[in-house]
Amino acid sequence: MDVDYDAIVIGAGHNGLTAAALLARKGQKVLCLEKNSSAGGMAITRELFKGYKHNVGAWVLLVFRDEMIKLLELEKYNLELIRPVSSYCVFGDPADNCFIGYVDQKKIGKHLFKDHGLRAIIGLARLDKALKKI
Ligand SMILES: Cc1cc2nc3c(=O)[nH]c(=O)nc-3n(C[C@H](O)[C@H](O)[C@H](O)COP(=O)(O)OP(=O)(O)OC[C@H]3O[C@@H](n4cnc5c(N)ncnc54)[C@H](O)[C@@H]3O)c2cc1C
Repeated sequence: MDVDYDAIVIGAGHNGLTAAALLARKGQKVLCLEKNSSAGGMAITRELFKGYKHNVGAWVLLVFRDEMIKLLELEKYNLELIRPVSSYCVFGDPADNCFIGYVDQKKIGKHLFKDHGLRAIIGLARLDKALKKI
């Protein structure tokens, strides 16, 4: 059987799926090939233990263009974005105050000032500056 495609997308990670969906919407005949038995790539959720679903790679939305929700009609498929309050927490010694990596910059500022002092604020600002270079 001969089948013609306008585009063949290799890999059904979120980028491949997005590319395939957008091409299909433009009326292209698209084939998306995936080597694994399920789609999703590194953004997949798997049942690692019976009854417990877990991320196996990416665990939080780091970069996301909100316009994609509308473009791909994700709400129609019940996508619900959960905006986390914090993205990490460092405990240290039991006697230490833990450091909570709040997503909200004002909250992190208040937390640092109240629980860790000026040195920690300066340290985090330096780390942030160094990371931005990368
Ligand atoms: C450990 C880890 C943690 C991460 N955490 C985060 C996070 O928290 N937040 C975040 O935003 N990003 C995170 N990332 C990055 C994020 O996972 C990637 O940016 C994202 O998955 C890239 O999507 P993609 O569709 O380009 O590729 P992938 O998700 O890698 O998908 C590629 C797909 O192509 C398939 N494939 C490959 N070769 C072939 C072939 N020859 N034939 C057929 N199919 C093929 C693969 O099986 C896979 O399904 C993390 C990455 C890693 C490795």
